[in-house]
Amino acid sequence: MKTRIISVHPKKPDRKKIEKAAAVLRKGGIVGFPTETVYGLGAGIFSSSAIKKLFKAKGRPNDNPLIVHIASKKQLKALVTEVPPVAVKLMKKFWPGPLTLILYKSDLVPSSITAGLKTVAVRMPAHPVARALIRQANMPVAAPSANRSGKPSPTDAGHVLDDLNHRVDCILDGGASIVGLESTVLDLTSKPYMVLRPGAITVKEIRKIIGTVKVYPSRRGTGRQLDRVKSPGMKYRHYAPKARLFLWEGRPNRIRTVAQRNAASLLRQKQKVALVTTDLSYCVSGIQNVLMGSTAAEVGRNLYLVLRMLDREKTDVILAVGFEEKKVGLAVMNRLRKAADRYSVLL
Ligand code: AMP
Ligand code: MG
Repeated sequence: MKTRIISVHPKKPDRKKIEKAAAVLRKGGIVGFPTETVYGLGAGIFSSSAIKKLFKAKGRPNDNPLIVHIASKKQLKALVTEVPPVAVKLMKKFWPGPLTLILYKSDLVPSSITAGLKTVAVRMPAHPVARALIRQANMPVAAPSANRSGKPSPTDAGHVLDDLNHRVDCILDGGASIVGLESTVLDLTSKPYMVLRPGAITVKEIRKIIGTVKVYPSRRGTGRQLDRVKSPGMKYRHYAPKARLFLWEGRPNRIRTVAQRNAASLLRQKQKVALVTTDLSYCVSGIQNVLMGSTAAEVGRNLYLVLRMLDREKTDVILAVGFEEKKVGLAVMNRLRKAADRYSVLL
């Protein structure tokens, strides 16, 4: 399959260009498109062949449900059994934007979208290109991130092409994603309400609107894990670069010592090593040091971009210093812990 790339203005996309991609969706094709979080891979939710194509293109396991994207609040009603008052409040405050709500699904939503669950995840993206595409396609669009399953999410059209060239019908290129991390996923069918995945809309902001909210814990390593791992790359990881990723959290001085020692030992083994941090004081001489930005938002925007860049440069090992879990920092650490998996270490 030849993948067609259509460049559009990120803020004022040309209707005729969007129409080409919308027509692909209507015919049961799949389309990569920009959202403010990351690039999505869209398929019309009522086309079972398009949904199959989407799972296949990503190599995504069938038991992982998809988020349904809509262009107006009106579209939500048909997808769910009920829109509870808390959802109305949240939509008023955060839609369009990077917040996904989980509600009980209506019979209209195919079970292939929800992996057989009684609930459905729905989001109204803020990106003008995403909104125009969904509006012109005139249907709700299932859109997981437009990467091969397990890899870092794509934050520009080039990343989508790197992963999915010849696997998707078309990519709308509307520039880089501003948030750079996937949406906050909030389950409104559990009591108390639960944030399943942190994102740019913070738990604090959500609590301000609806009161008590729990956060599903993301995994954290223990000090001994680093030594116990014998067989790198054996286990399924999420958001993961090809390079081995060591994530260190805990006491700054301990991290500094361990970073120096590990970098030296890896260099002796002729490994290409990079360290990522926001703080100059962690940098190690003799290796590549990447400063991720000075605010949580910048780190969020840069995270996947940097992981993909280091892979392109054939980095063998990435040493990551844990970031502050303030604001979007919670989401950054959630993704990093998953990406680092067994190499996530508390010092
Ligand atoms: P992505 O691949 O980035 O679109 O990820 C979608 C996320 O939403 C995954 O973590 C899914 O497991 C989650 N998700 C989608 N639908 C549901 C649902 N009905 N209940 C719980 N989680 C869901
Ligand atoms: Mg994804």
